[in-house]
This record gives sequence, C-alpha cells and structure tokens, in this order.
Amino acid sequence: MVDATGREAVYLDHAATTPLRPEARAALLAELDLVGNPSSQHSAGRRARRVVEESRESIAIALGVRAGDVVFTSGGTEADNLAVLGLYRARRSEDPRRTRVIASAVEHHAVLDPVDWLGEHEGAEISWLPVDDVGRVDLAWLKAELDEHADEVALVTVMWANNEIGTVQPVAEVATLCADRGIPFHSDAVQAVGSLEVDASVVDSLALSGHKFGAPVGVGALVLRRGLSPVPLVHGGGQEREIRSGTVDAAGIASLAAALTASMADFDVRTARIARLRDDLVAHVLATVDGVSRNGDPSCSLPGIAHLSFEGCEGDSLLLLLDAAGVECSRGSACSAGVPQPSHVMLALGVEPVAARGSLRLSLGWSSTDDDVARLVEALPAVVARARRAGVGR
Ligand code: PLP
Repeated sequence: MVDATGREAVYLDHAATTPLRPEARAALLAELDLVGNPSSQHSAGRRARRVVEESRESIAIALGVRAGDVVFTSGGTEADNLAVLGLYRARRSEDPRRTRVIASAVEHHAVLDPVDWLGEHEGAEISWLPVDDVGRVDLAWLKAELDEHADEVALVTVMWANNEIGTVQPVAEVATLCADRGIPFHSDAVQAVGSLEVDASVVDSLALSGHKFGAPVGVGALVLRRGLSPVPLVHGGGQEREIRSGTVDAAGIASLAAALTASMADFDVRTARIARLRDDLVAHVLATVDGVSRNGDPSCSLPGIAHLSFEGCEGDSLLLLLDAAGVECSRGSACSAGVPQPSHVMLALGVEPVAARGSLRLSLGWSSTDDDVARLVEALPAVVARARRAGVGR
C-alpha cells in the first residue's frame, strides 16, 4: 500500500500478522510443487512424511519438548480451542466433579470464547483470574482459588504474553501451582513464540501460530505433554495422534519450522533491535504529544508492542487518520455493530471505558526499521490534534 504522497505505507501491526520471512518463503516454495500426502505409503507420500517429521523435530527442539508432543493445527485459534474444549471434556468425563475452568481475564478471544462457550453450554463454572494494573495475573488469588476448588478444576489457562498490551505472565509460577495439584495448565503462547524465550516443557499444553513469527497464515501447533488426551474437535483420519484429524499441510509445516529456526538463529540480535525501536517510538511519542500514557508492564513485556492511550481521543479516529497518513496499526479493541467497544483487556486493568477506547497498539517486528518509527512520530501530532477535535462518543 502507498500513502497520499506515493510513499510505501508503514506497517506497525506485526502483532496482527508479520510478513513472511525469506527462509519460510523458500521452504514453502520448495514444498508447494511436490505432490505427496504424508499419510500415503508410496515414495512421494514417504517423502512428504519425512518433511513433516523433520519439521516436527526441529520445532520440538526449538521449544524444548519431544517431537511427539507437537500436534499440527491450522493456527492459534484451533490450537486454543482444542486445548480448552478438548481438555475440559476429557477431564470432566474422567471425573464429573471437574467442571471449573480458571482463565485469566485478559485472554485472547481464541481462549475467551471457548471458555465462555463451556460456561454457557456445558455447565462449566468459570473463575476469571484477575490481573493488576499492568496486566499481570494475581498469583495469590490463583493459589487461593486452586486450594478452595482443587478437586473441581478441569484446567487452568493463562496466556504467555498479551496480544494487546504485551505484558508477559509469570508462566513458570502458574505452572508450578498447577503441577503441585495435578491440574493441566494451557498457555496461549501465540504472541510469545519467536519473540520471547519459550520453554514449552514447563506447561502441559501450549498454542502457537506461524503467521506471528514469519510463517504463512494457516499453520500452527498445539504442544501437548505426553499423557494428555483432549477430546478431538474434528473427527476423521486421526492423523495427528488421534487428536487432530485432516491431511497435514507439509508445505506449511516446513515453512513453520523454517520460520521458527530462523527466529531462533537471530533471536538475540533481532529482539534487542526491535525492543530498541519500540523504546525509541515510545520516548518520541511521549516527548512530542501531550496526554499520552503507556499501558502494560514496562519491566516485562513483549519486545515489539507499544500500547498507548491518548486522552480525549477515540481509538477509531486515531486509527483511520493514521491510516490516511500512511501508518497502519491497530486499535487493540473490538467494534460491535459499528460502535467502538472498550477492550476487555483494558477494562481488566481497571481503566475507565471511555479512556480504554482511546488507545492504539503499535507493534513492530522483524522487518521494522528506524524509518518506520520516524514516519509514525512525524504523523502522530497532527493526527492526535484532529482526533481530539473530533472528540469522544459516550
Ligand atoms: N492468541 C493470541 C494471543 C493471538 O494474538 C492470536 C492472533 O491474533 C490468536 C490466539 C489466534 O491465532 P490465529 O490467528 O493463528 O488463529
């Protein structure tokens, strides 16, 4: 896309989806032209199977688990649904007393909605785990809830890092609380994999999605500890451990593995560079625009996310005016029937609904540059002034 002056638009929405990495593109193209169903027994099938299994092995090594723990899916939403719905159903059928789900209040809709579904349609009791004003879960609250309801809890789900404000959760501490009581712990690590050091062996179940770290859209995985058998959502050939059916996408999986390997190879340099760009962006915005505050945990956050609130603005106005100025970013909250809604994440932090609506998520990734930050900083003061003149709805 180009802006009004013919310049290429600046892309600051890497948390929504990030461009294909060259290594992932090469792996994808290398496989796309080759025929062979990995479940077939002839040579072409066996070749495709080898690609899938080598990819599984390299993904497992990158995440510190065994190859057999990796179940390929179509992406993060499917992996989260499989974990939440599938583990709940399996645990409940083992012991009908297990009807409670503990979920953090700041989960992505890929977790939030299946949890709500269980509450509305399958008799689950939901305990929403509160967060503090930077979005970190309350561990003392979790411990008390687990102690009170240990026999009733089907599973606990807490994301690794938040997709709106970037806050990283104390995953190891949550894992210990759950492991001590024999309760399965699922973590949605869709934003974390590729951006943080993720050791999947500390949790029982973990969701990842390729398009967040440079693989194509439509491929991801559920990393599942041996011995856990969620009830499948989709029934068919049982290709993935009898947990997930459907012909696996050998080209997509090869590309997923290539993107993850590339993310590990340049991890330190890339994440330090992205965090430096993000810090520059925040510092420049705070210095040039009044009435701005930063959300999330400044000491423990995803390197690429800057989530900012602008007093007296509607996030929608900011987003559209920035888009017209050639900067693409996200509002970080939903719109329902054309009416801007405050994000559930901001409300969980204790922010007032009107203030919650006046925020933007600016997210950087592997292809971001100093020029991207400079273009945002150049455009923003006029955009905020216009958005303030337009005012806020009630
Ligand atoms: N979980 C989180 C934290 C996300 O940020 C996203 C995507 O925005 C998802 C889950 C859904 O992943 P996918 O787009 O692969 O379905």
